[in-house]
Formats: sequence, structure tokens, C-alpha cells
Amino acid sequence: MEDAVRMQGVTYVYVTDREATLAVENIDLSVRPGEFVSLVGPSGCGKTTLLSLIAGLMRPTRGEVQVGGKTITDPSPRVGYMLQQDYLFPWKTILDNALTGLRLMGRLNPETRQYTKHLLHEMGLGHSEDWYPQQLSGGMRQRAALVRTLAAKPELLLLDEPFSALDYQTKLQLEDLVSETLKTHCKTAILVTHDISEAIAMSDRIIVLDRNPGRIRKEIAVPDPIRQAIPFQAREAPGFHELFNQIWNELLEISGEEAQHEQPAET
Ligand code: ADP
Ligand code: MG
Repeated sequence: MEDAVRMQGVTYVYVTDREATLAVENIDLSVRPGEFVSLVGPSGCGKTTLLSLIAGLMRPTRGEVQVGGKTITDPSPRVGYMLQQDYLFPWKTILDNALTGLRLMGRLNPETRQYTKHLLHEMGLGHSEDWYPQQLSGGMRQRAALVRTLAAKPELLLLDEPFSALDYQTKLQLEDLVSETLKTHCKTAILVTHDISEAIAMSDRIIVLDRNPGRIRKEIAVPDPIRQAIPFQAREAPGFHELFNQIWNELLEISGEEAQHEQPAET
């Protein structure tokens, strides 16, 4: 079967009039259909850059990005992108917000509208279709943003720290809901998160990135007992704490290596 995502030798350099920043270098990454992969690494290691490249918002300086076997050069409805901020329009109802993507793509019709309403229902927002974003809690708003992303039936979901602005309890509930929804709809997903527990609880595979430039440092397959549990229960599964420590130490090593490379301050 075709890889859902395939990055080959991907390098990206941000160029401004003052400087050039090598954000990510020589990234090779394949994601299988239906797989859930998390990207973790220090801030500035290029996680958002990688998602933007897969979303086709930017083109690689070198290398190639394919989604479902086709080279990505522009944003595509096959890829859904969800961010930490929900970007709901305050003057539109939840249903209208959820339909925004479809309307922009010229794909709003009775069938896609019905599907969106079905998703709202599935996400526990069926009764709040006619509400406005300011009437919703943070968790409900993120669920509405997820429905908007799923409404266009993307094959691939890119999630850039979608739970990080939520309180802990809401975040855990949403992890379970998102995990279940993506499984039901057989979606492939790439999640960026700062939260090691979240990465382990939600993923099939975890990619640890190095910084300056962003490179793949380690790939870790999550063992079956953890993968098969829902995220909330995965935290109690055998092997969870060992895996947490392994990734924690990996991230500590990255900051340790960086500290060694820093120049001593002049006295
Ligand atoms: P992360 O999401 O892992 O925190 P980013 O992908 O946002 O990292 O950034 C990777 C690197 O690219 C950082 O060094 C950052 O400063 C740089 N960078 C990101 N966006 C821009 C931009 N628009 N212009 C210049 N440099 C950028
Ligand atoms: Mg980022």
C-alpha cells in the first residue's frame, strides 16, 4: 500500500532579508495509512515547519513531500490542519463555523452538510449547533475546530499542539475522543506535542527531533499494550513509564548537548 506521507531528503531554509535559517535538514519520514505518529522535540526544532511542508503551505528547499503517493506543492483538501488556537469566527454559529472549510472549497451540499451535523453529534456538540463560539468552553471549541477539519474528509490530519491550551481534565477527555474518532474514520494523523505522556498515549510511533538544525534523532515504536489501550488507560499500561523515561532522557540529552556547544560568556 502507498505511504500516507513520504518525506525524502527534506530540507527547509527560512530566508529573510537579514538572514537564512536552516530549520530542518535532510528529513526522511514515512507514515503508513491509518498510523498515528507524534513529533516531539525542543521548541524551535522544526515541528511546525514539518507540518507546514506536509500541508503544502510551503515548499521544501530541497527534497520532496508526498501525500498518498502524490507530490504536495500546494494546500490540498486531502490534508486537514488543526492548530492550538481554534480560529473559530465569533460571529458565526458552531454549525456555520464547522461548514466554513467546505464552503471555501465549494463543496457545501446537502450531503456534506448532513455529514458535518453527524460529526458535531458524534463530538457531543449536536445540541450546540446554533450557539456562538463565546458560549462554548475551550474543550468544546477545540471539538468544533476538529469537526471543521474532519468535515472535508481529509485523508491525513496534522495536529499542532491542539490540546496545549486546555486544562488537564479536558485535555485527557479530548485525547480519548480524538483518538476514538480518528480510529472510527480510519484517518492517518501526525501530532506535534510538548507532552511526552500524550505522545505515548496517543501514538503508534514517536519521532524525537534534534534542534539546530531539526533532524530526526530517534524513532520509537510504541508497544502494543499501550497502543491498544485508549489514551487515558494507556498511561497505566505496562511499559508506559519506561518509555516515558526513555524519551525524557533523550530530550535531556538534547539540551545537555546544546549547553556544551554554547560559548562560555566573556568575562
Ligand atoms: P517548532 O515548531 O519545533 O517550535 P518551528 O518549525 O516553528 O519549530 O521553527 C524551526 C526553526 O525555524 C526555528 O529556528 C525558528 O526560529 C525558525 N523559523 C520558524 N518560522 C520562521 C519564519 N517565518 N522566518 C524565519 N525563521 C523561522
Ligand atoms: Mg511549533
